Amino acid sequence: MDNKTQGQLLEEQLLMKKQNGAEILSDEEIAKADAFCEGYKKFLKYAKTERGAVTETVKILKQHGYEELDPDKKYEAGDKVYQINRGKAICFATIGTRPIKEGVRMVASHIDSPRLDLKPNPLYEEAEMALFKTHYYGGIRKYQWTAIPLALHGIVVKKGGEVVDVSIGEEPGEPIFVITDLLPHLSQNQNQRTLADGIRGEELNILIGSRAFKDDKASSKVKLAIAKILFDKYGMVESDFQAADLQYVPAFEPADVGFDRSMIGAYGHDDKVCAYTSLMAAVEAPNPEYTHVTVLADKEEVGSPGATGMGSSYFVNFVSDLAKPYGVDGYTVMSNTKCLSADVNAAFDPTFADVYERNNSCYINYGAVVTKYTGARGKNGCNDSTAEFMGFVRDCFDAEGVLWQTGELGKVDQGGGGTVAVEVSKHNADVVDIGVPVLSMHAPFEVVSKIDTYMTYRAFKAFLK
Ligand SMILES: [Zn+2]
Repeated sequence: MDNKTQGQLLEEQLLMKKQNGAEILSDEEIAKADAFCEGYKKFLKYAKTERGAVTETVKILKQHGYEELDPDKKYEAGDKVYQINRGKAICFATIGTRPIKEGVRMVASHIDSPRLDLKPNPLYEEAEMALFKTHYYGGIRKYQWTAIPLALHGIVVKKGGEVVDVSIGEEPGEPIFVITDLLPHLSQNQNQRTLADGIRGEELNILIGSRAFKDDKASSKVKLAIAKILFDKYGMVESDFQAADLQYVPAFEPADVGFDRSMIGAYGHDDKVCAYTSLMAAVEAPNPEYTHVTVLADKEEVGSPGATGMGSSYFVNFVSDLAKPYGVDGYTVMSNTKCLSADVNAAFDPTFADVYERNNSCYINYGAVVTKYTGARGKNGCNDSTAEFMGFVRDCFDAEGVLWQTGELGKVDQGGGGTVAVEVSKHNADVVDIGVPVLSMHAPFEVVSKIDTYMTYRAFKAFLK
């Protein structure tokens, strides 16, 4: 006998109920989420930078039979192709059975993360220590980057064009690097600075050595000793820093967080968590109706400029190359395209609850977060998806039992942000943001929930179906 009151019945019928995945998902489903995240942790360990993410992505694509795009070839349903842009961004596609002029299903995320780049003239010596000058990249809270282990990644182009790969600080036994900070005993003046000013850009100097070169006559002997190590190891000289992409990232490995291992702590979840989930969803959907196009872009953290950012035409050119043999223009395809802009959102943090509006925040373990609009100060600079497209996305996720929620980035006028959605919308495509809620976003060690990561992957699968 059902003894629910009329009010309870009405509540069920009319009101929305947010659901915590840890409570409502079966043990089997949660075990699947945990297993999926093991693959993600492995990917992320080597995908800290955009170049690393491209390398790891290509490995997975090749395992699934993807080949490099030949722009002059006419691709048929089931064909799988990819195209790398300058080693820092990548597009790939699985050709669908429907004519390409009906549009593609696109998922676009970014593979760059906030970090510390070396300046073009970085190496110097002071007080018989060798240091590197840096210029931070993307939105960081500078005080978080001192006194933590850092690893160096990137490439150096030597005179004549030879490219040298650099990676130090990730493998056991390798040295790491650090930015020093003041001791509490002497930080009286520094403590008077505001938090934003607590560590300044020009104080983000990386300690790289301290042993002098044994020679009475040479000057800057510690700097010289480091230059010799770099020459012996990489064959590079000081002026080669002028043609280098060298970046410092936290040396932490992805790790489970919590007694219950329900979360993953790592550097670079934003936005590799969306890159990996969209990558796996796409490679596991081999015979789509609509052609899939997945874009893993660079430069989102600095506003998507440059040839490898989403402000560049490369991803539309990629679509155009697929459409051209059918006599279809790229703009026709883009105008009929549905796109998920895959990026993270700020999860509600009870310690800093006052910056969030509880009814419209996303919460960890409540699933993938759909963000209708981003922007700041009156939705400035946002895409703001149409009601029709929100309706389409909702039906698509609900049909597959995907756990999802909506989220806004903090309280109105508290701050704001943007994603690649705006860049995609410039090509007249329908687009909305979706991704994983993150705690401590843009910190050297960010936290996501395993359930949310898995549900975001399932959301992409539902969308690509
Ligand atoms: Zn992001």
